[in-house]
Amino acid sequence: MTTREGSLEAPKRHPLDWKNPDFYDETKLLDEAQRVFDICQGCRRCVNLCTAFPRLFDLIDEGSSGELDGVEKQKYWEVVDRCYLCDMCFMTKCPYVPPHPWNVDFPHLMLRAKAVKYKKGQTSFRDKLLSSTDLMGKLATIPVVVVQTVNAINKAPAARKLMDSMLGIHAERKLPEYDSHKFRATARINESFAVKDGARTQGKVAIYSTCYVNYNEPGIGHDLLKILEHNEIPVRLVEKEACCGMPKLELGDLEAVEQLKNVNIPHLAKLAKEGYAILTPVPSCTLMYKQELPLMFPDDEEVKAVAAAMSDPFEYLMLRNRDGLLKTDFKQPLGNVSYHIPCHLRVQNIGQKTKDLLQMVPGTQVSVVERCSGHDGTWGVKSEHFADSMKIGKAVFKQMAAPDPDYISSDCAIAGRHIQQGMGESKAQKQHPLTLIRIAYGLG
Ligand code: SF4
Ligand code: SF4
Repeated sequence: MTTREGSLEAPKRHPLDWKNPDFYDETKLLDEAQRVFDICQGCRRCVNLCTAFPRLFDLIDEGSSGELDGVEKQKYWEVVDRCYLCDMCFMTKCPYVPPHPWNVDFPHLMLRAKAVKYKKGQTSFRDKLLSSTDLMGKLATIPVVVVQTVNAINKAPAARKLMDSMLGIHAERKLPEYDSHKFRATARINESFAVKDGARTQGKVAIYSTCYVNYNEPGIGHDLLKILEHNEIPVRLVEKEACCGMPKLELGDLEAVEQLKNVNIPHLAKLAKEGYAILTPVPSCTLMYKQELPLMFPDDEEVKAVAAAMSDPFEYLMLRNRDGLLKTDFKQPLGNVSYHIPCHLRVQNIGQKTKDLLQMVPGTQVSVVERCSGHDGTWGVKSEHFADSMKIGKAVFKQMAAPDPDYISSDCAIAGRHIQQGMGESKAQKQHPLTLIRIAYGLG
């Protein structure tokens, strides 16, 4: 077997073999973890990416032999709990990913371990609750009074202390508010324009709104609609949508992922076949459809069709620009923008399309911060990980503040909130990049 470092071929991810009973065999899982951890201990490139690798290397260094054989296998779970599946080790660091014969896919090993833990019934009520984004959104936004109560509780120090001790949701984590005016209920869609297909883009768009935009920040969705309308692109919403399944994937509840896929994919596949570009304003949800579902269901033609039709909004807008079909009549300069590109957008391998579009706005300087902010969807909310999430984000908070920005912005609204919390007092406004483009166009 070759032992050369790295590979000249592009990384290739193997499908997730999650229907195989061996996938859930704990002994086989821990044997595979031992094989991969042994490679990692000799390499140690990923030491500064997150807290999973430092925990692994500490376990080894503090073990009886100073080697991996001195670490009890049950301690491996401490590494698993610290991984939030950002994919950065696979995408940016590891020279041993397939097709290299060492076949190291650290995030998918962690995902398998989380699935084994879930099957064993060892997943906490708190983690199940946090991953039920659709259900929580529906409950919290029923009538206005419930929204106001939930938002008030989330801000009340006494209630937050109780949530910390009883639920394990850290008292200092600023939680997103719920909005009683859900995006899907209030979206003003305009299908009246003629369809203008470009060489690279479909001329009509369907929006998969996502739980976060639907329940927490509908303004991001409204801004996307305004940008599309300004560019005379006919738009509609996906007829019916449930959570994309990413929070359930991160929990290891793969059967729940399949159930959600069965709700979403028929509606999305129909739109893909009808020639719609499907835009998703949350990078993790886009990634779910473009990468994770195709790896879980590699033979499903509808999943493949949806993956091909789905795009990050800025990827679509920049392709529209290359097609000569994007308006560039920007009226409002944005000044200094500190822009954070989230991990789940980086791993989509589309380049820095958000930065490219922001930079087209006259009177705008964009500083890009390309590091993990350390939050993930729910990981940084948990009491036991809050301090680590702030520690991982420290360099990002500093880099975002450095250019004395007028705006701070991230395609991931959750990372944006986390960065704002980490930066503390600042004159900079936090705005989603879609909001910045809406402002730049001078749209109210
Ligand atoms: S996927 Fe992300 S969080 Fe998990 S081990 Fe890799 S870099 Fe760390
Ligand atoms: S995941 Fe790859 S790059 Fe990272 S420590 Fe392990 S072997 Fe090295």
